[in-house]
Amino acid sequence: MGGAMGVLAAGGFLAHAARGRSSSVCGPSVYHGDRSRAAIALTFDDGPSESTPALLRILERHQVPATFFMCGQNVERLPAVAQSVAGAGHEIGNHTDSHPRLDFCSRDFIYGELAAAQEKILRHTGVTPKLFRAPYGVRWFGLKSVQQRLGLLGVMWGTIGNDWKWPASRVAQLLLGRARQGDIFCLHDGRTTVPSPEIGATLEAVEAIIPVLKERGLRFETVSQILCPTS
Ligand SMILES: [Zn+2]
Repeated sequence: MGGAMGVLAAGGFLAHAARGRSSSVCGPSVYHGDRSRAAIALTFDDGPSESTPALLRILERHQVPATFFMCGQNVERLPAVAQSVAGAGHEIGNHTDSHPRLDFCSRDFIYGELAAAQEKILRHTGVTPKLFRAPYGVRWFGLKSVQQRLGLLGVMWGTIGNDWKWPASRVAQLLLGRARQGDIFCLHDGRTTVPSPEIGATLEAVEAIIPVLKERGLRFETVSQILCPTS
């Protein structure tokens, strides 16, 4: 294979390696749980934020556990909020320290980003994350060895809610239309800007979808539960 075909194939390979949700070239990662179990996992990225407590209240009212992929810098900014997420029994994952795109970054840079987030999350919540989500879903060469060194499994998603740009009704409609057993949904309880803007659409969409999904017989689990069921 040579010439233009080779270049095209290499480009396709790179795109899939970096962004394909099932690709494991750039680090082991998963994007759904067992399709034979009536369970679903809600995940929230980019927090903690000033709005996270409002989300925690909704989840508590519905008795729904979730997984929060936190940025180290936000944990350091709002340590009490990060603690309350852990204290409520939700799972905490690593979403890097400063939320950079990891493509074209060196292994040392990638390690620095993931290790800083691990350290800040541990220091402020007492939790050592086992799960990692790459910012923008972009992974890169070198990430694999960094994940191995830090004991992190990559977690992508089945459906991303677009909750940072869509109204709640559209987010809810998308998620309810896509929901199937074993799914991992990706939503956001913060932003990488400081201070975080309101997350009203996210809160409203979560409030709307939980009762409907429960009525369909789906139960909510953390990502670790949905990946490694014990019951
Ligand atoms: Zn993110």
